[in-house]
Amino acid sequence: MIQLLHSNISVNSAGHLTFAGFDTVSLAEEFGTPLYLLDEKRLRENCRTYASSMRGYFGGGSMALFASKALSFKGIYRITAEEGLGADVVSSGELYTALKAGFPPERIFFHGNNKTDADIRYGIESGIGYFIVDGYEELEALGRIASELGRTQDVLLRLTPGIDPHTFAAVNTGRLDCQFGVPVLGQGMDFAKTALETPGVRLRGFHCHIGSQIFGWVPFRDASDIMLSFMKEVKDTLGYEAEVLNLGGGFGIRYTEDDPVIDIGEQIGKTAAHVKARCEKLGLSLPAVLMEPGRSIVADAGMTIYTVGSVKTIGEGYTNFVSVDGGMSDNPRYALYEAPYTVALASRANDRADFLCTVAGRCCESGALIQKDVYLPRPVRGDKLAVFCTGAYNYSMASNYNRLPRPPIVMLTAEGPKIAVRRETFEDLTACDM
Ligand SMILES: *Cc1c(COP(=O)(O)O)cnc(C)c1O
Repeated sequence: MIQLLHSNISVNSAGHLTFAGFDTVSLAEEFGTPLYLLDEKRLRENCRTYASSMRGYFGGGSMALFASKALSFKGIYRITAEEGLGADVVSSGELYTALKAGFPPERIFFHGNNKTDADIRYGIESGIGYFIVDGYEELEALGRIASELGRTQDVLLRLTPGIDPHTFAAVNTGRLDCQFGVPVLGQGMDFAKTALETPGVRLRGFHCHIGSQIFGWVPFRDASDIMLSFMKEVKDTLGYEAEVLNLGGGFGIRYTEDDPVIDIGEQIGKTAAHVKARCEKLGLSLPAVLMEPGRSIVADAGMTIYTVGSVKTIGEGYTNFVSVDGGMSDNPRYALYEAPYTVALASRANDRADFLCTVAGRCCESGALIQKDVYLPRPVRGDKLAVFCTGAYNYSMASNYNRLPRPPIVMLTAEGPKIAVRRETFEDLTACDM
């Protein structure tokens, strides 16, 4: 039996894998492979869980911001805007895309550990809501450019609380020593004081982000404890009370059967109850609380379909290799950090999965795998292969390595499949070449 993993994945009477109710083999025939699929209904449901939980448990000004580095194209900004989310951007390119899609600038937050003067100017001129200031140099540049433009820019300060949420080291960003933010301990107070004294800048609160694939509220409880204690110290020392506390992103999603199922609404509810109690105890008024989900908004709304090209078997004791027509160019996450994914043979989903193999892409790197050691029905050339939960950090991390055109994104909607991003052409590949 294949692992179905999420409720939007099933198998139809033809033995084909379905996604959001659509036959993935028919979609592959209609739109070609490799192919990214996005389930609009699931996407909107995920947005609504966050929007209603943040508002319901924390109250009025609280909100979820979609961390758009997880998936950035015009359509996703339209949907998240409609669902009442804010957006995090980390570059002028993401900001441009959001604005082109009509995303309300006042709900945009500009992140990043090395914003250039040009980024800062573009953000201020576009009227974005907040910069999340990552360090002293940025604070100085922001103050200088805002003053030049005759503006006062709202900011949050990014602080590192020094928490290890027990996730993979490369996506663990809450430690004291990392390239993001300023440590709460030792430097936080001076950073806040400097912000309060910087002309052109209006300090509104603080931000932290502790990591990714977090399966529960406890790391958020610990982070909020550190941040609220700091906010209390700032109030007592500098006479400044923060209005906004941003707890970052990172709720986990179920890539494989080994990952737990979590109820995100419930986790937000528990976090909110804790934050409210702490504020009361510390004599702080409840700030507007923000969270920044990325993968938990889009990952399980995505699936990638490939066509199998070759099956190599040497024999007993050797790895069997199944190669598909995409790879690290459309999903670099295995090559980067051996990210786990669930793989299924979409064209024969009911056949017995008794062939142990490694699924490789077509890029010329031995580490460019999709997934190691998976069980599939023994594939043949032309079979369609699906990789589940690819909505986050696949398209947004895709490249033209080996001059492979990026696949299209087909949105699966109530009115049928719609091309949300078209497939790149060979002309696109040479468009910038002189
Ligand atoms: C990456 C990131 C997020 C989103 O993380 P997910 O694991 O995708 O939810 C949110 N905030 C910041 C600052 C980030 O760097």
